[in-house]
Amino acid sequence: MARRIRAAVLERPGGELTIEELELADPRRDEVLVRIEAAGVCHSDYHYLTGDLPSRMPVVPGHEGAGEVVAVGSEVTAVRPGDMVGLMWRPRCGKCRYCLSGRPALCQSGAIHAASGGLQDGTSRLSRPGGSTVHHLMGVSCFADHAIVSERAVVPIPAGVPADVAAITGCAVITGVGTVLNAIGPCAGRSLVVLGAGGVGLSVVMGAVLAGAYPIVAVDMVAERLEAATRMGATHVVHAGSEEVAAALSEIDAEGFDFAVEAIGRPATLRQGFDALRPGGTLVAIGLGTAGQELSLPLNPLVQRERRVVGSLYGSANPRLDVPKLLALYQAGRLPIDRLVGAHYPLDRIGEAVSDLIGGAVGRGIIVPS
Ligand SMILES: [Zn+2]
Ligand SMILES: [Zn+2]
Repeated sequence: MARRIRAAVLERPGGELTIEELELADPRRDEVLVRIEAAGVCHSDYHYLTGDLPSRMPVVPGHEGAGEVVAVGSEVTAVRPGDMVGLMWRPRCGKCRYCLSGRPALCQSGAIHAASGGLQDGTSRLSRPGGSTVHHLMGVSCFADHAIVSERAVVPIPAGVPADVAAITGCAVITGVGTVLNAIGPCAGRSLVVLGAGGVGLSVVMGAVLAGAYPIVAVDMVAERLEAATRMGATHVVHAGSEEVAAALSEIDAEGFDFAVEAIGRPATLRQGFDALRPGGTLVAIGLGTAGQELSLPLNPLVQRERRVVGSLYGSANPRLDVPKLLALYQAGRLPIDRLVGAHYPLDRIGEAVSDLIGGAVGRGIIVPS
């Protein structure tokens, strides 16, 4: 039996989010119904709101969330009603060459969501009263009091972890910390600069502290975000609005950086990261830009200085292993994920949460829908 839910709906790119009553069908055999307790507001959501990234419309956005399992389909074995789960927008099939070779972020399961606006079978559980289809975003759609997701898209959360901490671990934290642990690897004593100190950039700082990088430099336009970076363990900060970034970085590390991580998704800041590298250094691009956007780099410094430029999606992570590991580090006091949690908003004030994100809010805004 379908249930009525309250959800934030985007009718068309560039439009406003409106809060509507929708119908949510029952979970199918391999699906899970979750009552959403917390949903993080991520910059990727904004890309879908503006149309910078394409999606089927109308759609319920929101792709990092956590809550309590209410019901499960007949074949679900990973979780039971009453369990707390975190949601993952990058499900894994466990069978393809990427899953089997330890790179599940590249599993094509995620592409089904993008192409269909549905769940893993390509169909939607969301509709307006009267029957017209509303689409899921990234198989999650957690700007709503309930969501149905594939069993592949949930990970159990240990007792004692707050819902907001669990929610942001499923996108911002796993992306930022995972970039350091998985895409960069051992970096103790090596220098790292992160461009952009939003939720993902601050998570890169957390990961760099955990891995022992030094110095750890954060660059941003917003002074309050740089203060947050310092609280997270950045050893130096550069205010891009008032300092010349290249000069400030070369004052901190005259030889250039071993690693630069760009967490914004802009060609100009990617170029700043590339230029800041020492010979043999690596630029990791983790921020999504507008669809079709291009990056140009000078050829000879790439070759002559053996610099590397790599992309990393979703922290190049294996969420089923990495989310429990990150939460165990949080519970042990080794990863201050809670310091990343920003303001809380009821679902009705989601527009304000999105404006605050764009206006430079510090930490991750959290929607509390139920
Ligand atoms: Zn996200
Ligand atoms: Zn796969």
